[in-house]
Amino acid sequence: VFNFAAGPATLPESVLLKAQAELFDYRGSGMSIMEVSHRGKEFDSVIKTAESDLRELLSVPDDYSVLFLQGGATTQFSAVPLNLCTSPSDPADFIVTGSWGDKAFKEASKYCSPNLVWSGKSEKYTDIADPDSFASRQNPDAKYLHICANETIHGVEFKSYPIPKNKNSLLVADMSSNFCSKPVDVSSFGLIYAGAQKNIGPSGVTIVIVRNDLLGSAQPSTPVMLDYKIHADAASLYNTPPCFGIYVCGLVFADLLDQGGLAEIQRKNEEKAGFLYGAIDGSQGFYVCPVERSVRSLMNVPFTLRRSELEKKFIEEAAKEGMVQLKGHRSVGGVRASIYNAMPLAGVEKLVAFMKDFQARHP
Ligand code: PLP
Repeated sequence: VFNFAAGPATLPESVLLKAQAELFDYRGSGMSIMEVSHRGKEFDSVIKTAESDLRELLSVPDDYSVLFLQGGATTQFSAVPLNLCTSPSDPADFIVTGSWGDKAFKEASKYCSPNLVWSGKSEKYTDIADPDSFASRQNPDAKYLHICANETIHGVEFKSYPIPKNKNSLLVADMSSNFCSKPVDVSSFGLIYAGAQKNIGPSGVTIVIVRNDLLGSAQPSTPVMLDYKIHADAASLYNTPPCFGIYVCGLVFADLLDQGGLAEIQRKNEEKAGFLYGAIDGSQGFYVCPVERSVRSLMNVPFTLRRSELEKKFIEEAAKEGMVQLKGHRSVGGVRASIYNAMPLAGVEKLVAFMKDFQARHP
């Protein structure tokens, strides 16, 4: 089937086949990769190679640490303010462009004093205003400015990033649903975090890329598992890491490098997304994408049918033809096609052909 789920999501077939082959006997060790010690030579090579491949993919500067953590991106909603604010009274700025950014904003209020710079809620998160228009609402003392780079539910993606006003302020981004989908200038962020289960692996691994000078001033109450310095000093091996997940992420990073790196991945993603948005916009209103064109996500394409009573039928018939998990998020309804890196162009072509056929059958 072609799996259009938002996450856990489809992974490259070649990666799954490789993992399957190595699952029982990892490279002649006689053990599954799930059975080897996280401090043994087999896993040491897995995690070091995964990290160096990710550094190569994103050109991560040397003064940044790459951490392989647990707890999902949701855990980072509290870890970020605990690490970047020295006390709960420290201010931090938030731009909220969808449900995930809103969750991060709300969770942060337990550990810092969050300031809502801008929210797209009144427009149902279908657009992002020009950052210059709300720059003056940033707090000059904010410790960081938080964004969600791609809102998975609403399909809204930053195409360029806002600039924190305070020179000490940092840009922090939740990149869970567009991580490794295109090149990113890591040096313009203080911290990037991403749950793995969309573009790079199974759920259970969370990547944090953090500038080293930000380590070591976590609030005293910070749990040891949320303290970035502890994990950086231990090279992500402070406790037992999610070994199997990290192994699969490593296979995905190698695959992305083999495909030519993130510029080539972006080209493929733009081709797929362009094809799908083109079909929606060319349907004379039969299908409608509510998101403003300039901020439409390359990864998550939400759309509705003008005749909403047909949506259930659309999703059921698509599933019968092998295109599964197209239901929109329960909070917004409609249809959502998540077309992450591992979704082949053939999957999008098949969906577009189905959409045209479905429209023709429902004049
Ligand atoms: N942020 C974004 C943009 C997401 O899409 C998700 C999950 O779908 C999360 C955060 C939460 O991630 P997790 O389930 O790994 O905690």
